[in-house]
Parts: sequence; structure tokens; C-alpha cells
Amino acid sequence: MTVHHSGPPPATAAVYDVVVAGGGPAGVAAALTLGRGGRTVLLADAGGGPPPVGEALPAAARVLLHDLGARDILDDRHHLPCHANLSAWGSDVLAAQDAILDPHGHGWHLDRGRFDRGLRERARLLGTDVAEHSTVRPAHRSGDGTWTVELRGPRERRTVRCRWLVDATGRRASLATAAGARRIVHDRLIALCLTLPPSTTSIPDTSTLVESSPDGWWYTALLPAGHRLLVRYTDADLPGARTDRAGLRADVARARHTDARVSAHPWPTAAVRRAPAHTVRLNAVHGSGWVAAGDAAAAFDPLSSQGILIALYTGMRAGHAVHDHLDGDRTALPRYAAELDTITAVHLRNRRTFYALEHRWPRHSFWHRRHTAGPTDSADGRPRTRPDPMPIGTEPESHGCLSGTGRLSVGTSPSWPSPWSAFDLCQVSASRS
Ligand SMILES: Cc1cc2nc3c(=O)[nH]c(=O)nc-3n(C[C@H](O)[C@H](O)[C@H](O)COP(=O)(O)OP(=O)(O)OC[C@H]3O[C@@H](n4cnc5c(N)ncnc54)[C@H](O)[C@@H]3O)c2cc1C
Repeated sequence: MTVHHSGPPPATAAVYDVVVAGGGPAGVAAALTLGRGGRTVLLADAGGGPPPVGEALPAAARVLLHDLGARDILDDRHHLPCHANLSAWGSDVLAAQDAILDPHGHGWHLDRGRFDRGLRERARLLGTDVAEHSTVRPAHRSGDGTWTVELRGPRERRTVRCRWLVDATGRRASLATAAGARRIVHDRLIALCLTLPPSTTSIPDTSTLVESSPDGWWYTALLPAGHRLLVRYTDADLPGARTDRAGLRADVARARHTDARVSAHPWPTAAVRRAPAHTVRLNAVHGSGWVAAGDAAAAFDPLSSQGILIALYTGMRAGHAVHDHLDGDRTALPRYAAELDTITAVHLRNRRTFYALEHRWPRHSFWHRRHTAGPTDSADGRPRTRPDPMPIGTEPESHGCLSGTGRLSVGTSPSWPSPWSAFDLCQVSASRS
């Protein structure tokens, strides 16, 4: 990357090089990358924050955060270390993958709001203009190629101009879809989330647990401050998706490992929260004057536990691509798009592999669909007749891995119980220019 120093910050300049919409991991990674290249950047975050879920961050994130100049963001007692991933998948027997075997060490149970705020603060310290509580409205493009962007907050409305837009608005991809990109939806997965109060009796258990069930799968993990997250994953049209709090309690009693952990906590009075968790991607991740990153470009099944990692990575790669494009490199954005295609293809293949490992309920809709179906297209809601591009059995299963150059390469070592663990960003070079 060539470093530009394009003069004073745009408080006084007429036009930003780039406006980044969305202050989650993808948006901050893009802003940090562009700022390090000397571009003037405005990062605007609507302030709704990430959905109140409670995510786990794999250990490999250390490497990316280091590359972004934000490694110490995790040196914070509010993020809880995660020392093992447990799973009962394909059988009732519990298997464990211990962090001691991970070259990057342990992962984390994040305080997600704090993590995102910390990242935005880092971007601000490194010279990015950060507009909190500011929603970027779909923009207007002038004849000279610059965008006029409206920022709406609770107290003010203002417009700024920029040469390029990064859409990091999460699953909605508001700017890209307003620019005409289409969302391709691959399944109907939803998450029903419940946060349990801290246990007064149990010893803190810092592992994550995934347990399959006839209509989907369960996830549970401790959250910072001792609360426990319980999530049921199922399809939006299946009966389990309508479960209320009492129904969830009855159903989790049939998932013995999850139930054992949940039973140590008081049952909450809060309502069940429902969040979309389907795999979705854009049919085009860049267009005239814009590029999408993170969930806006492609959002994956949370079974992979890699959403934040991929958001950081694609944000960084989108930042590099825009920077190089503004330098006149017309291959930068197509290369970024090709990389996202590879990441998506690897994800879809890994997803098929791991769902295929569970064969106890082949006639149940949730599993039958995942063993047989191809993607569905959100445009007409009808299943496509074409199966996934690489059905299981036609080729050796491959697992993406980021090589020493920070680009995605393909390995061949499936590993369970850590889903997609070979998809970890292993050996990402800290010396990327
Ligand atoms: C149920 C569930 C469980 C998950 N569990 C995990 C897990 O354990 N580990 C993991 O790594 N990943 C997990 N994920 C995935 C992870 O949450 C996402 O992949 C990740 O948050 C994507 O980051 P992002 O920056 O692309 O988008 P987001 O985190 O969604 O951030 C988008 C940001 O844009 C802002 N915004 C939206 N619209 C605008 C606008 N118009 N203008 C300005 N700002 C705007 C929002 O306020 C938000 O701050 C899970 C997802 C789900 C649904």
C-alpha cells in the first residue's frame, strides 16, 4: 500500500476520501486501514450497536487486531477468556477442543458493545473522524463522481461529501442494496436468545458448548459478568422458532449437556430475543463508488463462530482495495470480490461438511434441508434447482486458511469439534504493507 498524506483532516477539507457507514468490526477495520494509508476517513455509526447476542471471538483475532494496530483492545478484564469449545454433534458424546492446542492461545467471550466502542475509539485516536449516533442515508452521486452523504443523528443532520463509500452496515447492507445490489439468501436460520442471570452455585465454566437437536442446535456460553447466554438455532418456519420462554425451558431439558449448564442458573424473566442468523451474501460486493465489507457483503451461519473475524478481515481487505483503487489500480476491487467469493465458497462447503456430520435425524426438516438443499434466492423466495456448487463427495473437503500473506488459501484437514477451526486466520502476517 502506498501511503498518502492528503493534508489536514476534513473538518476543514471539502471532501473526505472515504465515508465508512457502520462502526462494527468491519467498518472500523476498513477505517483503520484507509487511515494508515493516509486517506481522510469519516466513520459513522448509527448507534444501534450489534444485536444483543454475546459473541465468542476466536484466538486468531489477535493477529488481525495486531495488524490493525489494535491488539491491546483485548487486554480488558471485561472480556472473558474462552479456554475450550465443547460439542455433542453426531452423537450424544461430548468432545472438547482445548485452547492449549491453539497456537494463538485462548479466545474470548466478548462484551460486544465494549469491544466495538473500543475499536471506534482506537480509530479516532489514529486520526479517523468518528461520528457516533449518526445514520448514513443512501447517498447521491454528483457528475464529478463524489457522493453527497446525509448523516442523521438524534440532534443534528448534516451532509458531507466523499469520493468513496464503504458499506459496513451489517446484514442489512443498506447502502449496497440502495445502490442496486441483491441479497442472496441461503437458508432460514434464526437464533432465539436468552440471557440467564449469574449462577450462585456453579464453578465458572469458560467453555462454549454446541449441541445438536432434532430441530436445530443449541449454543451456550458464559458471558462477561457471569451471565449465561442460551441460544436455540432453528429455521424460521419450523415450530421451534415460535418458542416462548416456557417452551424453551421445556425443550432445552431434552438437550442434556446444555441443560446441565443452564440448570445451574436461575431461569430469567426477560423475553426471548429473536435474531436473523441465515447465510446471506450480496450478488455484487462493489459498484461505482462503493464497496461492502463484513456482514454487509456476506454473513455466515454462526456455527462457524467466525463472523467477527471475517468482518475484521474483509473490512481490512476492503480498505486496501479502495486505497489501491483510488491510486488507479483497477484490479484491486475485482480481486477483493474474488477473495470474498472464495471465502463464501469455503464457508458453504464447510457448512455442508459439518451439518452432514449430524445424521441422527435425517427426516427432520432442519437436517433434511441441510443434507440436500441448495441456496434459495431472496428475490423470489423459491428454492433454486441448482445444488451447492461443490456438493459433498465430489471433491476432497477443503478448509480455508489465511496464509502468511494474509490471503485466503485452501487446506485439506477437516477438524471437529471446533467448527471451521481450520478456517482460522492462522499465520496472518503482521508486516502487511
Ligand atoms: C445469533 C448470532 C450469533 C453470533 N455469534 C457469533 C460468535 O459467537 N462469534 C462471531 O465471531 N460472530 C458471531 N456472529 C456474527 C457476528 O455478530 C457478525 O458477523 C459481526 O457482528 C459482523 O460485523 P460487521 O461489522 O460486519 O457488522 P455489525 O456488527 O452488524 O455492525 C454494523 C454496524 O453498522 C451500524 N449501522 C447500521 N446501519 C447504519 C447506517 N445506515 N449508518 C451508520 N451505521 C449503521 C450498526 O449500528 C452497527 O454498529 C453471530 C451472529 C448472530 C446473528
